[in-house]
Amino acid sequence: MLINTIKELREQVKNWKKQGLTIGLVPTMGALHQGHLSLIKKCVEKCDKTIVSVFVNPIQFCPGEDLEKYPRTLDEDKKLCEDAGVNIVFAPSPKEMYGEGHILSNDFLTYVIPPFFYVDKLCGKSRVGHFDGVCTVVNKLFNIVQPDFAFFGEKDRQQLIILKKMVKDLNIPVEIVPCPIIRETSGLALSSRNKYLTDKGKLDALALSKILFNIKICYNKGIKDVKALKETAYAFLNNSHALEYLEFRDKDTLEEKFSADNNTIVFIAAKVENVRLIDNIAL
Ligand code: AMP
Repeated sequence: MLINTIKELREQVKNWKKQGLTIGLVPTMGALHQGHLSLIKKCVEKCDKTIVSVFVNPIQFCPGEDLEKYPRTLDEDKKLCEDAGVNIVFAPSPKEMYGEGHILSNDFLTYVIPPFFYVDKLCGKSRVGHFDGVCTVVNKLFNIVQPDFAFFGEKDRQQLIILKKMVKDLNIPVEIVPCPIIRETSGLALSSRNKYLTDKGKLDALALSKILFNIKICYNKGIKDVKALKETAYAFLNNSHALEYLEFRDKDTLEEKFSADNNTIVFIAAKVENVRLIDNIAL
């Protein structure tokens, strides 16, 4: 069932809660692919009722990013959700979520701001304000749906860590369920933004996963020194890649690691054909 308004969604949720049913939420920006579907599948298995939100959240896009051209495929998304056993697709308009007005400005809208230590690095460094937008919209969705469980992909690992921190710091009564990264057989992590790439771009994009897999192999062979592990990346890079970062950080706190261990995540971001791609791997 497709619902566009907060009021209608709340009524449905209230009914389910009265019946003592557990509710799972899968927040997405749509253009659904197998990565999203893995979250949805997990939710359908675990919860009595599954709600998938499809909302291209304007306040998490920075100026100059792809807000306008971001793929919007609601009809296909709806069909995929129905086939997967989703009970509600919640697809509000920006006006429904934020009202009219100066939505991009925190002069006019209450924001949820994650701690600086978590956002001054990795994607937060180049996408200033991005995680404010993410935390604000996810907090709103949590308030609207009041789910028992919410499912997020490890593909966006910094986001997952920040949202876990938000839930803990603000005592939000929801359990965050992390879900593993789904990849093409080539290794490329699925992403709605892969649609922007040409065939050549998709081949060039394989460098990201190759770098991560190779680092994991080297780590498993006993190389722990981060500087040495980072140097292994250069063999995979050429002038079709603009590397933004390759960093080793703690899986919960995002503190930098100089010697890799089993709590280390390797994060990578690079532009290919001017498309910004991210990936990560746990050591
Ligand atoms: P998005 O629509 O890009 O905001 O993503 C919605 C959710 O799907 C987020 O929790 C993402 O981390 C997750 N997701 C996106 N791509 C993948 C993937 N390849 N594997 C697992 N989860 C993913």
